[in-house]
Amino acid sequence: MNIERNLLTRNPFSRPGTYINNVKGIVIHWVANPGTTATQNRNYFESLKNQTQAQKNERYASAHFVIGLQGEIIQCIPATERAYHVGATTYKPEALQKLSYYPNNCTLGIELCHPDWSGAFTSETLDSAAELCALLCMQHGLNPETALWRHYDVTGKNCPKYFVEKPQEWEQFKREVIQRTKRTQIIEG
Ligand SMILES: [Zn+2]
Repeated sequence: MNIERNLLTRNPFSRPGTYINNVKGIVIHWVANPGTTATQNRNYFESLKNQTQAQKNERYASAHFVIGLQGEIIQCIPATERAYHVGATTYKPEALQKLSYYPNNCTLGIELCHPDWSGAFTSETLDSAAELCALLCMQHGLNPETALWRHYDVTGKNCPKYFVEKPQEWEQFKREVIQRTKRTQIIEG
């Protein structure tokens, strides 16, 4: 798997530079901007640094990884640092219980690009996403049966739309990650 490391500049709006103590979960998102590339979405997060903190309606947003339509993976933020991907004013009870009162503190965010407003992902994007999730589960000692979250599962937001509307596709994606984790364990063992 090829991960292009193109880290954001440290700034208050997208890469605060604060540390994650203990990764407890991985949260999957859609970029909600059809046809855009991984690089464009990474650069959007970077552009947030140009806001001033005094400005009204300032926007805080970022994710650790963005996966493009051809399956290319860009890492925007080190896995040891916090991203702003799942903040909200209220969280679902299960998320509060399992991820703490502030899930950005203990989760990694992955944004998936998509061709159109249906939100459906290309097979290349899904393949890279499953591979990356399996790798991150191994690296952080996470159980893929319980550590994978849709943004929707944490806050109720319609994200990623396709996996919210088609829960069976989400279940299939999780099974794919679980299988790949097992395969990786066998190879490493
Ligand atoms: Zn989201």
